[in-house]
Amino acid sequence: MEILNEFIEVAANPAAYAAKIKASGRPVIGYYCSYTPEEIIHAAGMHPMRLFGSKGDTGIADRHLQAYCCSLVRGALAESLSGGLDYLSGTVFPHTCDSIQRLSDIWRLNTSHGFFADVVLPVKLNTESARRYMADVLDKFRKELESYFHLTISDEDLNASIRTYNAIRGSLKEIWELKSHNPGLLSGSDLSSIVRASMVMDREALKDDLRSLLEELGEGKPSGEAKGKRLMLVGNVCDHPDVYTLIERSGGQVVWDDLCTGSRYFEGMMEEGSDPISSIADRLFERQVCPAKHKSPTARGEHITAKAREHGVQGVVFLYLKFCDPHSFDYPYLREYLERAGIPSMLLEIEDRLPPEGQLLTRIETFTHML
Ligand code: SF4
Ligand code: SF4
Repeated sequence: MEILNEFIEVAANPAAYAAKIKASGRPVIGYYCSYTPEEIIHAAGMHPMRLFGSKGDTGIADRHLQAYCCSLVRGALAESLSGGLDYLSGTVFPHTCDSIQRLSDIWRLNTSHGFFADVVLPVKLNTESARRYMADVLDKFRKELESYFHLTISDEDLNASIRTYNAIRGSLKEIWELKSHNPGLLSGSDLSSIVRASMVMDREALKDDLRSLLEELGEGKPSGEAKGKRLMLVGNVCDHPDVYTLIERSGGQVVWDDLCTGSRYFEGMMEEGSDPISSIADRLFERQVCPAKHKSPTARGEHITAKAREHGVQGVVFLYLKFCDPHSFDYPYLREYLERAGIPSMLLEIEDRLPPEGQLLTRIETFTHML
């Protein structure tokens, strides 16, 4: 499938894609968290770009960071300091985990990518005042972009952007659901590449590419084989397509996830044609929370259990970047919550580079054989 290969190429080398966008004269605005209001950046005529951090040597970042920072934060700073992000015209930091907040301070003082914004979203997402506060913060961000780049972001621009993003998210969800119903249709690593490339590609072209891909996939024959135990990945980000391949080689298949590089990116639609800032705020407010936000003590457990049941999941793999405080704090309660629901789970902690293949295979195989 030619179109699928395009997604795989972009996911494998996002910087090359971003450099082309920059060469076309469009500012590229980078971000590290799925709470970033991409729609506002897109409505300003700019290109929102998810950054995943360098996977090379991160020593250049060490003098700025404590040893216990996650590899995403370390790789992010290393990539910037070593010139790997010179195509950026700005960066946006939503207020989320402590590591990202501290990275934001260090970034502001030590890097020079032009526009910089801290988007201080509320942490508790369970009151009407928080919902209004969220909208006010987004409106402030819109004004900051307008002022820095000397432009106007109209409500019409925002509504057009909302339509584009609804189309993109709707298609991504359809693709994921096709895969869940017919796991043989796409490999896990291809699916992961599609979602990650969608955070990088020109969003107007992406909207059409995803529809074309869906049409091609819709013509695919059901594999009829339910090979591998049905697993759900739960965690922060997964920028390692090899993880999916290793799971498949170990007798499993990923049929749903709760990841920032997965369903947390595409779940939730925005109302079209009303006050656009409120619509964007409502989605961020109502979307399934990550552990850096709070809705209720059991919100994540309920959500993950419901999704596991909906997708016939036999086991959950918690996939965390090491030293990720918010997810590590959530883990004991989530594991117990799933246990009570009769859903077994295992924990895999990884870094920017994966542990030896044999070690991972043995651990996942032991889990899938037990299911
Ligand atoms: S886990 Fe939460 S804080 Fe971390 S990148 Fe995802 S949305 Fe942002
Ligand atoms: S992996 Fe965890 S600690 Fe690192 S940036 Fe994401 S939420 Fe924060």
